[in-house]
Amino acid sequence: LGVDPLTQRIKEKEKKWKYKIAVLSGKGGVGKSTVAVNLAAALAKLGYFVGVLDADVHGPNIAKMLGVEKAEILAEKVDDHFEMIPPTADFMGQVTPIKVMSMGMMVPEDQPIIWRGALVTKALKQLLGDVKWGELDFMIIDFPPGTGDQILTVVQTIQLDAAIVVTTPQEVALLDTGKAVNMMKQMEVPYIAVVENMSYLICPHCGNKIDLFGEGGGEKLAQKEGVDFLGKVPIDLKAREASDLGIPIVLYEDTLAAKAFMEITQRFV
Ligand code: ADP
Repeated sequence: LGVDPLTQRIKEKEKKWKYKIAVLSGKGGVGKSTVAVNLAAALAKLGYFVGVLDADVHGPNIAKMLGVEKAEILAEKVDDHFEMIPPTADFMGQVTPIKVMSMGMMVPEDQPIIWRGALVTKALKQLLGDVKWGELDFMIIDFPPGTGDQILTVVQTIQLDAAIVVTTPQEVALLDTGKAVNMMKQMEVPYIAVVENMSYLICPHCGNKIDLFGEGGGEKLAQKEGVDFLGKVPIDLKAREASDLGIPIVLYEDTLAAKAFMEITQRFV
């Protein structure tokens, strides 16, 4: 009653997603999308059915990181409306096919996304309700950085099971991370955890550990906020290389960062 058909469809589809996980960050550039795609790839490697929704309309790059940015999006008529068929990434059969939908697929790369307000909300809801997601073990939603409206839209539409907040150990990042954690608390998301990315760098020449952005900040923040700490991911030159090739590091090479992502995922499932 009083619910529009799109919202109704989202409610129906949501029932088929076992765990809905948000990946957030207080600020941009901390590796939120990298964590989201590696979490997805690690889960798919473990045999789970995974969907990834890139809700970051202002800088969508998930499709690229999973190598499906050029995939054609087909649509199918269902009753009185059309539904998009999500492209899949399975990395030559290495993992259970990951279904991916991203604003990046719907908007040409050379055009800035200047949608605002109602348009963004509608687009986001369509990515949830007008896509043939099917049965999923994990629906992973990559949010824009910060604590803006898009997050509110999704959190008010579907029932999240968990929020993973990505931070670097740096002081300024931690401040914003605290805000993101608190937003999730206020939204009564049942499980909240922090992942620290770019925690340290192993010098390729001398093998020494360098704490580029300070040490232990993510864990301290998690303690202070009373949420779980899932682990540290080092800076990894291969992770950047893999990402540019459209392959998550966990499926590319067994580096320290890849190991860290697998451990974090196993801690989480
Ligand atoms: P965000 O989603 O927070 O804006 P991204 O995931 O896009 O951040 O990461 C920003 C950049 O940093 C990307 O070029 C990515 O490949 C790189 N990056 C992220 N995490 C790591 C890491 N652990 N080691 C090396 N490069 C990383």
